[in-house]
Amino acid sequence: MISKEYGKYTLICDICGAGTDDEFDSFQDAIDAREDIGWKSKRVEGEWVDICPDCIE
Ligand SMILES: [Zn+2]
Repeated sequence: MISKEYGKYTLICDICGAGTDDEFDSFQDAIDAREDIGWKSKRVEGEWVDICPDCIE
């Protein structure tokens, strides 16, 4: 998921709960950066989930 805290957006892995160290200024920035930093987004049972590089395997 993309989480908003203190006005900044971060990515949180929906499988293991790990977050990125990176913070993004906007929701769109987080989406744009997601693939660049090795994360994937996929649809699971009708919901979009964000998956960190450790959980992609
Ligand atoms: Zn993970």
